[in-house]
Amino acid sequence: MVESELPDFFDPAKGYSGMKAVLLNEHGPVENLHFVTDHPIPTPGPGQVRVRVHAAALNYLDIWVRNGWPGIKLSYPHIPGADAAGVIDALGQGVEGWEIGSRVAIDPTESCGECAYCRSGRENMCVNFRLRGEHIGGTYAEYIVVSARNLVALPDHVSYAEAAAASLVFVTAWHSLITRGNLRPAESVLIVGAGGGVNTACIQIAKLMNCTVYVIGSTDDKLAQARALGADVVIQRDIEGGWSRAVYQFTAKRGVDVVVDNVGAATLNDSLRAATRGGRILTVGNTSGPKVEIDNRLIFGKHLSIIGSTMGPHQDYVTVMNLLFKGKLKAVIGATYPLDQAQEAQRTLERGEVFGKIVLEI
Ligand SMILES: [Zn+2]
Repeated sequence: MVESELPDFFDPAKGYSGMKAVLLNEHGPVENLHFVTDHPIPTPGPGQVRVRVHAAALNYLDIWVRNGWPGIKLSYPHIPGADAAGVIDALGQGVEGWEIGSRVAIDPTESCGECAYCRSGRENMCVNFRLRGEHIGGTYAEYIVVSARNLVALPDHVSYAEAAAASLVFVTAWHSLITRGNLRPAESVLIVGAGGGVNTACIQIAKLMNCTVYVIGSTDDKLAQARALGADVVIQRDIEGGWSRAVYQFTAKRGVDVVVDNVGAATLNDSLRAATRGGRILTVGNTSGPKVEIDNRLIFGKHLSIIGSTMGPHQDYVTVMNLLFKGKLKAVIGATYPLDQAQEAQRTLERGEVFGKIVLEI
């Protein structure tokens, strides 16, 4: 066999070898995640680069994807994970402006670059929108292949773990609060839930805008950490009389300009109550379930807007990552595991006890 016919992952020194990766072969419990050391190393196509991943961050999405939902179609074996940072290890055809050995953070989404949404800078609405770890293979692996246009150069003073931990949650939070939510300086912002990655990003972004930030949380520990990130007022979720009433009292019966509600079924009605007249309710997800009965009188009677979005366009990713690189925003990392302990990492995420992101070091 001549060398050019050998598969890309052939290492003459070691014989056929593959990469470390975590594979899912069917939906189900965390035990369905399998750590392997011989998965084929992917080859970058035109316009793509291969990245040697050094850190992958978990998102709750990873657990939903593992459990599955009606209509989800994974290509097995599936590699979970949306977030990663690492070093460019190979360049595909036609890639310019990037070099092997460069440190990079990776936008968690892929888009076609050609449809009307992409051409107007709204890649997260792309007709062929793909999220890493859901629609395409993910980041719980030693190597991944990504479009070169999805990279952001990672400065030396920012760790791979910080970049991976920040990526999906910060672009999602920035797009929701700033681009879609049109957050203005000095507005009041209520964030429902303290510990999740998007919420910790929202606290910081809202403070960067000099907003007054209220946070609802389930434990004293999480609320203390929310306060450490800049929250002005923290409120226990189970406060007597209900938290929406508490918010009303804290705001002198006015309510807040913006509510960030990524909890969904359990909280949306209280979020509508906590908003002021003309307020905006922002949502990027529903950790407590998707279906909720809404009292429509609250929406028209209070002139409320409910504004949804998912992920963010690449320009928002660049903007928010640069704020991270400048130290204006901080990645909050709650726990770190080696790749072969991905099962334990997901268990920790499911228990919901960790404040901040869970990172796999690879
Ligand atoms: Zn597109």
